[in-house]
Parts: sequence; structure tokens; C-alpha cells
Amino acid sequence: MKWWEHTRKESNIDFVKRISIERAKQSRKKSNDKYMKSEKGKKTRTDYWHSDNGKQVMKTYMKSEKGKEAVKKCSSKSKAKRRRNLRWIPLFGNPFPEDVKVHYHHINNVFVIPIPDLTHINTYGNNHRERCNVWINKLFGFIGVNNNE
Ligand SMILES: [Zn+2]
Repeated sequence: MKWWEHTRKESNIDFVKRISIERAKQSRKKSNDKYMKSEKGKKTRTDYWHSDNGKQVMKTYMKSEKGKEAVKKCSSKSKAKRRRNLRWIPLFGNPFPEDVKVHYHHINNVFVIPIPDLTHINTYGNNHRERCNVWINKLFGFIGVNNNE
């Protein structure tokens, strides 16, 4: 639809109002996305979810239909499925000093490798396994793991 065709259904003023609101929304979303990806944004978000206000919001959300659905989705079924597929066999023992807390990262569906917990946490999110395996290859040398396995 061309911009002038809108005027048939709504007044010019309404049209201009609507478009400017939409534009403002878009630019707000853009800058918000950018902010959320920055270190500062990440910290603010973490702080928020740990604040009383954030906890309350989370509590309310968890009780809502949408929240319950989201929990169900990421817990029972997919986790059970994941557990069924995953085995837990350490490829080697923990080579780190005792004071380093380690996580066992699944390099594929069978083998796990001990890595420092902070390193592991830093690779959480999208493509966790791939990104973590890159790190492992750098640290231990190539361990012969194909990301697609
Ligand atoms: Zn992992």
C-alpha cells in the first residue's frame, strides 16, 4: 500500500501520528537491542533479575499461562530428551589446580571435558557447544571433535 492510500481510511493527522509512533518504536528497539548486547546492558539485565522488582516480575510471569508454557517447554520434555541422548564420559581427568572450579562440558553427546567454570559460563547462549569447543581446541590442542557429531 502506498503512503497516500492510508489517507482514505484515516485522517492525515492520524496517519502521521501512527507512522511517527511506529518509527519511534523501531528506533527504540534498535538502540535497545544494541544496548542489550553490550557489557553494560548485560550487567543491567542481570542486576535487574536479581533485584526485588525483577524477582517479583519473574514470579508473576512464572504463574502466568505464558510462563508456565515456557517452563514446560524448556524443562520436562526437551530436558528428558536431552538426557536420553547425552552420556557422561570424561575424556580425561581434571588437569586444573584444586582451587579452580570446573564444569564438565559436553564436547559431543558422549564425552565431557573439564573446563574452568567461568570459561564455560562465558560460552553460554547461542552455539554454546561450538564456541566452547573452539576454546577447548585452543587450550588442549585439537581434540578431534567435529562440531556436527
Ligand atoms: Zn558446555
